[in-house]
Amino acid sequence: MNATPTPRGHAVVIGASLGGLLAARALSESFERLTLIERDELPAAPDHRRGTPQDHHTHGLLARGRHALDQLFPGFTEELVAASAPLADLQADMHWYFDGRPLAPTRSGLVGVAASRPLIEYVVRSRVAAIPGVTFIDRCPGLDLTTSPDRSAVMGVRLLGGGEGAGERVIEADLVIDASGRGSHSPVRLEQWGYGRPREDRVHIGCTYMTQMYRREPHHLDGRIGTVCSSYPGQPRGGIILAQEHDRFIVTLAGVLGEEAPSDRAGMIAYAETYAAPEFAEIIRTAKPLGEPVQMRYPASVRRRYEDMAAFPEGFLVVADALCSFNPLYGQGITVAALEAVLLTDLLAESRDDLWRRFFRGAAELVDTPWALVLGGDLRHPQVEGARTAQSQNFAEYMTRYWSAAHHDALLGTALLRVTNLLDEPASLLAPDLVDRVTANC
Ligand SMILES: Cc1cc2nc3c(=O)[nH]c(=O)nc-3n(C[C@H](O)[C@H](O)[C@H](O)COP(=O)(O)OP(=O)(O)OC[C@H]3O[C@@H](n4cnc5c(N)ncnc54)[C@H](O)[C@@H]3O)c2cc1C
Repeated sequence: MNATPTPRGHAVVIGASLGGLLAARALSESFERLTLIERDELPAAPDHRRGTPQDHHTHGLLARGRHALDQLFPGFTEELVAASAPLADLQADMHWYFDGRPLAPTRSGLVGVAASRPLIEYVVRSRVAAIPGVTFIDRCPGLDLTTSPDRSAVMGVRLLGGGEGAGERVIEADLVIDASGRGSHSPVRLEQWGYGRPREDRVHIGCTYMTQMYRREPHHLDGRIGTVCSSYPGQPRGGIILAQEHDRFIVTLAGVLGEEAPSDRAGMIAYAETYAAPEFAEIIRTAKPLGEPVQMRYPASVRRRYEDMAAFPEGFLVVADALCSFNPLYGQGITVAALEAVLLTDLLAESRDDLWRRFFRGAAELVDTPWALVLGGDLRHPQVEGARTAQSQNFAEYMTRYWSAAHHDALLGTALLRVTNLLDEPASLLAPDLVDRVTANC
């Protein structure tokens, strides 16, 4: 991050989930006052809320995202650990099944922290709330954006009345950020203002999560913190087991292409027995369930191409899931939101000029790799629609051999996890020494 500018002016962030909180952290270095506006009542402790239905489900935090969060909030990882979230080596202390075969385990040096989504959000929210000049307006039932008469700039937010502290009033702002998630109204608003909608890329995956929390005992999974089992052509079922704070496991049985796990215990066990990873059935059969299973459907990854727009109102940006929402099985959303926040901090430290163009261009570069990983993985299913080039087919075929070889060669597994954790580019897997190891091991 660059040198800190003198803070001036007021910025408003719509949505106080992780995307909005991280954007607020970025703005806090250059704006004197910040207002976060949230539809939900924000809980005073780690808890679920209506506006983030995904918070009942497994949230893996990629290594790159954890690093970015530590950069934005020094001591973030330690705070999660102090709240009893387990810290572990991602390859030695977890099992990874790709194409039905486990990666060879080894100490990779890749460290992950396993925390529930409500805890992650709570810790970030507490840090943002402690920044001088930050105000939260929650329980906001509705809002609209105000613009200049010629609609060349967004001037603020009109609160449409309702809860405490959110009467009918206009809040002026030098910058408004839309962090309202994948249901963002920005494309519609831009069309109404005469800018047209951004081009949208969609990858329909038809994913369903069935998630249940369990009591974690020391003997479970021989002390490991979790297992990831990917779906692959011919096997639309996959899932995640991940330790959580307070001696719990969260278990998600995921299906793609319309495949859905049942919610009754016997059905879940039978479903999990079809997995290559025996851990899923083992935990569901032997661990004590806590609460009821919760289902969530995720139809498609959506990327909005604001960087391609010819014109855009000044004083306005769109971030995080509102900009790009990824198939959750890749665990990328928080990491990309954090990387966008680091980008925004740096851009604002340089200048506020032409911010939308510079931000959307930089964010598009950040999103390219995680989006390519989603495309590469999802397009392996022949039923998923999308452009398959000869190059992407060759890479997919190479990766099939790679995963098979990584079953024997732990170093290949580490290189792969570095890519899926967004630390290295996918092209790094084509380094000559790795290609040789793939050839030697499959
Ligand atoms: C099932 C599932 C599993 C996931 N798993 C992972 C994972 O393992 N790892 C990972 O990194 N990411 C994961 N994600 C993605 C992650 O949850 C998001 O990327 C992250 O929450 C950032 O999203 P966001 O803040 O942009 O939007 P959201 O989290 O959707 O939040 C939008 C916020 O805006 C508020 N809001 C909406 N409209 C208004 C309005 N008009 N006025 C005021 N407030 C408004 C909502 O109440 C909400 O608080 C998962 C997502 C899903 C759906």
